[in-house]
Amino acid sequence: MIEQKLLDILLCPACQGDVKEENAKIVCLKCGRKYPIKNGIPVLLIDESEKSAKA
Ligand SMILES: [Zn+2]
Repeated sequence: MIEQKLLDILLCPACQGDVKEENAKIVCLKCGRKYPIKNGIPVLLIDESEKSAKA
């Protein structure tokens, strides 16, 4: 579980959108990219992200 404080300061590197934690991933609310969490640390790298099927 990622601290809300940390989530509040994180931004999607692709679009600078806000992110939330969902199913042990960081999900961008704006573009829908999903970023992995490794060892409890969000990995906000575009290269590591999964593009949303919706977008
Ligand atoms: Zn984004």
